Amino acid sequence: MKLSSYFRAAFLIAVYLLSSIAISVPINAQENFDVVIANGRVMDPESGLDAVRNVGIIGGKIQAISAEPLKGKSRIDAKSLVVAPGFIDLHEHGQTPEAYRYQAHDGVTTSLELEAGTDDVDKWYADREGKALINFGVSIGHIPVRMKVIGDPGKFLPTGGAAHLEATPEQLAEMERRMERGLQRGALAMGMGITYTPAASRWEIVEMFGVAAKYGASVHVHLRYSGLKEPETGLAGIEEVIAAAADTGAALHVVHISSMGLKYTPQLIAMVAGAQKRGLDVTTECYPYTAASTDLESALFDEGWQDRMGISYHDLQWAATGERLTAETFANYRKQGGEVVIFVIPDEAARAAVANPIVMIASDGVQLPGSGPKIHPRGQGTFSRMLGHYVREEKILDLMTALRKMTLMPAQRLEKHAPIFQDKGRIRVGADADITVFDPDKVIDKATYEEPLQYSSGIQFVFVNGTLVVEDGKLVEGIFPGRAARAPILSTK
Ligand SMILES: [Zn+2]
Repeated sequence: MKLSSYFRAAFLIAVYLLSSIAISVPINAQENFDVVIANGRVMDPESGLDAVRNVGIIGGKIQAISAEPLKGKSRIDAKSLVVAPGFIDLHEHGQTPEAYRYQAHDGVTTSLELEAGTDDVDKWYADREGKALINFGVSIGHIPVRMKVIGDPGKFLPTGGAAHLEATPEQLAEMERRMERGLQRGALAMGMGITYTPAASRWEIVEMFGVAAKYGASVHVHLRYSGLKEPETGLAGIEEVIAAAADTGAALHVVHISSMGLKYTPQLIAMVAGAQKRGLDVTTECYPYTAASTDLESALFDEGWQDRMGISYHDLQWAATGERLTAETFANYRKQGGEVVIFVIPDEAARAAVANPIVMIASDGVQLPGSGPKIHPRGQGTFSRMLGHYVREEKILDLMTALRKMTLMPAQRLEKHAPIFQDKGRIRVGADADITVFDPDKVIDKATYEEPLQYSSGIQFVFVNGTLVVEDGKLVEGIFPGRAARAPILSTK
């Protein structure tokens, strides 16, 4: 007997449905998960899921999110804990094994140096490959490239020609070539710190944005100005780069907006929102603190800094010792060089940025080799401080909004240029098993200005690519599951 084509189609559909059921049922029933995170409150900012679920992991990927029990080779009991996507830090200068330990304790699974960046993308990734506790990534940086091309004696930030000399046409062309090369070699973004390279002309900035636009990369900018008085306010600083973004088509990400805006922070956020409404790809971030931090020898402290920022010597804390500065120690230490903590951000400005749903969270951690024991606490405590202090204690935003600002939004910022981020920042079947499990009643930052090198507490379990790096609140030693978070490589050597 011959089936009509109608019946044949119906038969094939029935076979397909049966086979898909046959595939999906045993996955949950078999003991084939590497790890099961059981009974946790799963919160996923993308889907809005906020419910008790069991999460099954196989081969570093999330393979099941189920209300039914799952069986696995190992099992984490997450009862009364929140199971969230691992935190993605867009702005972290501390990219050493030591700094990664603090970040893992703070729930960070992907740590990115996108503001300063590097001048050698291949070397930067090669230095960390197979040796990292958490995932890592970098931008091609205008600051280090300018330091190389113009020549500068500075260690991290420019102190000589890269800060104070205008580029010749040949130097500008060489900078463009190196920036382009970095993006071809898989840099996640372009980084800029215009305040540290004040001699970079307006046109130089537009040219660099043009290079980023060609590769669809976002430009992560520390603005040229962050003062209190016109014409050197954050408003003037943001105008320059919104114009460059509009002119070239590059995406713009304004880093640490509250230390750029100071009392004008709400206005700066309004300008980001306005640019978004006009269809520009402009985003921003903040760290949840009222102090900034940078190198004392940098151009930020060139003549007139007290007037520009509305602060004086006493508002600076020397990271090497914790002492507050005087005119005399300022002069000495500026010659010597090193980090200072700068008490300059009004509390209302910090809160405005922390609470605003369009402002992402990024630490701007500064645990660099030799930076001193009294550094800014932000690299060690940013994410737990958001969850413990601002969500639980101060209640200035809800938990899901906070998680969105720390997970999904940073992933979305990068995923067009770097598709690897399409599978990060989400608790979704098929996503990377970068997962942070914390106690919402206890999570809190411990790092303070007096004692900054303290692990956060209440972050109970952290998975990086399916491997536990924090277990029961303690670091798992001797494992390196972190992988390169890198954009596609477009050209060979
Ligand atoms: Zn900065």
